[in-house]
Amino acid sequence: MEEFIQAESKDQGKTVTFARAVDIPRSAQNFRFFASSVLHHTTECSQMDHMGCLNYTVRCPVGVAGLISPWNLPLYLLTWKIAPAIATGNTVVAKPSEMTSVTAWMMCKLMEEAGVPPGVVNIVFGTGSRAGDALVAHPDVPLISFTGSTATAQRITERSAPYCKKLSLELGGKNPAIIFADADLEQCIETTVRSSFSNQGEICLCTSRIYVERSIYSEFLEKFVAAARKWKTGDPSDPSNHNGALISKEHLEKVRSFVALAKSEGAVIHCGEGVDHLDLPEPNKSGYFMPPTVISGISDCSRVMQEEIFGPVTCICPFDTEDEAVVRGNGVRYGLSATVWSRDVGRVHRLAQRLQAGLVWTNCWLVRDLNLPFGGMKHSGVGREGGKDSYHFFTEVKSITIKH
Ligand code: NAP
Repeated sequence: MEEFIQAESKDQGKTVTFARAVDIPRSAQNFRFFASSVLHHTTECSQMDHMGCLNYTVRCPVGVAGLISPWNLPLYLLTWKIAPAIATGNTVVAKPSEMTSVTAWMMCKLMEEAGVPPGVVNIVFGTGSRAGDALVAHPDVPLISFTGSTATAQRITERSAPYCKKLSLELGGKNPAIIFADADLEQCIETTVRSSFSNQGEICLCTSRIYVERSIYSEFLEKFVAAARKWKTGDPSDPSNHNGALISKEHLEKVRSFVALAKSEGAVIHCGEGVDHLDLPEPNKSGYFMPPTVISGISDCSRVMQEEIFGPVTCICPFDTEDEAVVRGNGVRYGLSATVWSRDVGRVHRLAQRLQAGLVWTNCWLVRDLNLPFGGMKHSGVGREGGKDSYHFFTEVKSITIKH
């Protein structure tokens, strides 16, 4: 475990603490979960006595599953696909992001040791445009499970269309948190700082738009900025740091460019980029570090509020009514996750129904039951994965009729 934890942190830039708490335990958990859940599914049966027929369904492996995963949670997301694919009897060709492929390589060695037969799990290394594209356009790979950006998913959809492939697409998000005046503010702020900045904000489920009921807006903003300033960024191996480095220079520049855009549009940058100085140790000085950045005074139409930034940046806006909060929460092309904070049980159920998101958390964030469907709506994805959903995705169903 420790070798994997250290490697994931070094390769990706995330803190050792995060890799130890999240990435690596969850990677092992993915195998354990699907190894047992696959034993418990049942299929359908129907009787047609008037025809003298009995119908039932069976599920068969699809064949070779093509799996493509991104760089933010490298082994975690790769194993989330490999485990259900092989548990349901497929072989796989998996492509991790070329930027973070070290733990995938290490896993190959473990698989050999564990006695996985040669040819069952095949990992190909290479960039998306070469290795990924070759996998997507290969006529003998009937199924692609992809996690990554919406732009790449559109390309994959086009490339795979001539072969009528089965696709599961887990894509980006622009996730709102909607916070009502009756929320437990202390718990809400602690969780929303975590949901905005964990893993350098490089989680598809991170909060990036925070709508706060106007009567508590000023108090919330002040306390949230104070808490964000305590979310420390620096040497990934130092356990006192919450965040490490971003994935690459290009990505850091992209994230910074959104803060510059917000500033040019007249928004207020309360902390972080351009406001707070990062005091980094000498070996980290040229790394791609960025402190948690909080923005207010930005229009919902701004690109900063519409596009996925995928870094430690979050925007806070006031709202007046429940209807307004729903409309603004839904006012982006994405629909991955949302959080709602309120003690009013009726209201949280109402909002959960109305928000356009594949996952809605109320008074919490990132609580996951792997049995439940995971995925997004709108431009955040097509299809769901999770206990039963992965079982369905990685198998073909066949209806069989027996006349007796
Ligand atoms: P990305 O650029 O779309 O890359 C994802 C994967 O696709 C990488 O392995 C990449 O390879 C590969 N790829 C790139 N171009 C390809 C092509 N033409 N054909 C086939 N494969 C191709 O995404 P990213 O920047 O790595 O990841 C961040 C994105 O993932 C964000 O949008 C985030 O929200 C999303 N994400 C979504 C979820 C979810 O569950 N919904 C979870 C995590 C992340 P290379 O990197 O080697 O080039």
